[in-house]
Formats: sequence, C-alpha cells, structure tokens
Amino acid sequence: MDIIELRHDFPILQREVYGKPLVYLDNAATTQKPRCVVEKIDEMYFTLNSNVHRGVHFLSQEATQAHENARKTVQKFIGAASESEIVFTRGTTESINLVASSFCRAFCKEDDEILITAMEHHSNIVPWQLQADIRGVKLRVAPINSRGELLLDEFEKKISPRTKLISVTHISNVLGTINPIDEIIRIAHEHDIPVLIDAAQSVQHIGVNVQQLDCDFLVFSSHKIYGPTGVGVLYGKEKWLNAMPPYQGGGEMIANVSFEKTTYNEIPFKFEAGTPDFVGTTGLASALDYVAGLGIDNIAAYEKELLDYATERLSSMDGMRIFGEAQNKSSVLSFLVKDIHPYDVGTLLDKMGIAVRTGHHCAEPLMNFFGVPGTVRASFAFYNTRGEIDLLANAIERIVKMF
Ligand code: PMP
Repeated sequence: MDIIELRHDFPILQREVYGKPLVYLDNAATTQKPRCVVEKIDEMYFTLNSNVHRGVHFLSQEATQAHENARKTVQKFIGAASESEIVFTRGTTESINLVASSFCRAFCKEDDEILITAMEHHSNIVPWQLQADIRGVKLRVAPINSRGELLLDEFEKKISPRTKLISVTHISNVLGTINPIDEIIRIAHEHDIPVLIDAAQSVQHIGVNVQQLDCDFLVFSSHKIYGPTGVGVLYGKEKWLNAMPPYQGGGEMIANVSFEKTTYNEIPFKFEAGTPDFVGTTGLASALDYVAGLGIDNIAAYEKELLDYATERLSSMDGMRIFGEAQNKSSVLSFLVKDIHPYDVGTLLDKMGIAVRTGHHCAEPLMNFFGVPGTVRASFAFYNTRGEIDLLANAIERIVKMF
C-alpha cells in the first residue's frame, strides 16, 4: 500500500490544527472518511433520495435497490450465509441492546447468566445489566491477567448450566488484545451456548468471517470502518433471528396490523422498525468496498508494523507504562507516563496537533482492574505513518520535560 498516496483519499488528513499538521491517532473512537464514502452520500441525496421499501415510483425503487445492495455488500464482507442475517442498526451499541432485549425476552428467566469478559466496553456491559433489572438475569465476568489477556481456563470455569449467552469483544478498544474467539466459540458451542462477538474494533483491522468463526451474533459500527456515523450492523444466524421477538415496533417490521393483532415481517425487516438510514447504509457499503479494495490482510500487516514501531518507541521512554501487552494485539496503544495525568498529556498533545483519547475509554471496570482513573490512548489506522509516530514520541518526550 502506498500510504502517502492513500492519504489523499482522506481530505481531513491534510488539514492543520493550531497551525500544526493534524496527526490523527484517535481511530478507535472513530475513523476518517475516504472521499468515495462522502461522494456516495452526496450522490444519494442529490440523485436518489426517496423513502425505501414503500414506494412504487422510480426514485423509491432505486433507493431501495441501493439500500438492499448495501446489505449484500455487508453480507459478503463478513462472509454471512444469507443477506436476511444482516440487520441494519444505529451502531454496535444498538446492535447489542437489540440482542440483549430480544434474546433475553425469548430465552432468559431469573438467575440465568450472561458471560462477558473483564475487558468489555460499557456497550457490552450495561445492556445486560438492564436485563438484570428487567428479568433478574445475572452477569458473569471472565477475568484477565496483568498483560490484558483473557484467562481461558477461568473463562471456561465461569460457564454454568445457567449460562444462556456469551458476549465478548473480539479486540479490546483499550488494550488492543485480540481475544481467541475461535477457542471461545468452540468452548461455548461444546456447552450449546450461543456467542455474540463485539467486532467494533476488529472488522476494520483484522477482518472477520462469520461462517468460518461460526459465531451466533456479530456486531459492528460503520463509523469505525471508514463509513458514516449512525449506522451499524447486527449479524445473527437465521435460526436465532427467527426465534427472537422484535426489538422495536413501527413501520417496516410488520406483516399486517390491526388493533386486535399485529403480525411481523420476515427477517431482517422484523428488526428494522421505521425508515432505515438508507443513505448511511450505502455509505457503509462504499467504505467496505474501499477496505476490500485495499485488502484486509494488507491493512492488518501494515498496522501491525505501525503498532510494533510505536510500542518500541514508547516503551523505551523513562517512566512509561503501557497497558495491554498481549501476545496477540492490534492497533491500540494505551499508556501513562511518569505520574502525569492522562488529561494533561492529551491536552498538551492536542496543542501540538496530535489527537489522542484520554480517560476511561468507556471501560471503567477495566480501569479499576489496572487501578488507574484513565489512560492516554493512541490508536492507529492504515493511513497513519511512522513519521506520525515519531511526532507522537517526540511530543511525549517534550511533555515529560515540561513536568
Ligand atoms: N464496543 C467496542 C469494543 C467499542 O470500541 C465501541 C466504541 N468505542 C463500542 C462497542 C460502541 O460503539 P458505538 O459507540 O459505535 O455504538
């Protein structure tokens, strides 16, 4: 990949902040958008805009076609068996809430258990806690070691006859740990337990294939894979989606409505109440085509190089503490330096044009595990360069001197 050339596809990377070239290292929060995605959104509004699924007229049919083609693109991208297994949502968070609400309504009673890990994002904790409030479901948490790796033996010990679902992140947004999801899914299925994979941090870095993985559910957000905000994906095996009740009621998710009784549409539409973000879904499809064009393996190899280089540069600094030293790791570097507050580091880096994230990264239990209030997190995308990592390292050295 010619990174310098590719960077021209992302106009925002050319801008300056505080008179300095922007160094964007907050990709785990959201990624920048290539020109083709923004042009696709423009094209949709300028030439195709019309509500989908409902209209007999030309524009509505074309918009519907574009939206349903986007579903096919997602299906292909994640290797799903059928496009009816692709539900469009607002993002990872909504996808998990959908499964938590519908799956638990269908299959969980008081004291049934949901197993997660200690490195989950709040979006894979709180939806299950809501189910704990509503129907007495219990949350079980598999522990990690100090390198930020899941303890697989302990994980297996947490499985009980009451475990109804296992919901784990593929890659930690704080530690970069790549979880052994093949093993997790194998173990879960030996116990006849379905698995949800939070792929918010993995589809864009290492890719996924849901049929090879044999996961039961998989979720991700468009905005983290170079697509527009406000769109997400829930993949669910047909047998589960068919067995689950609708999440929300409204238009499109019905077959017939009367005041006495309503029957529901087939999947995936049963889970897509109201006008979908058909502009967003086509934008997402364009982003997935872009990523597929680069090749996820090329992206993974380049980002691994970047991570290794950044780890080498930062870990040699005096007083540096890196959080997340898993053997198998991707694109995220969380750290604290000396006893400088992460917020101070983030604010000073910002003034030097470098965008990183500071705080608990929506993973407060994980911060508690490490006994810190927060970290500084640099997260990489394929458009980042070694030069930018040098700028980061030099800036941190300057900040340490200031303190
Ligand atoms: N899970 C993980 C692992 C994440 O990194 C994020 C976003 N930081 C989410 C879930 C939530 O994603 P969204 O806010 O797009 O719904």
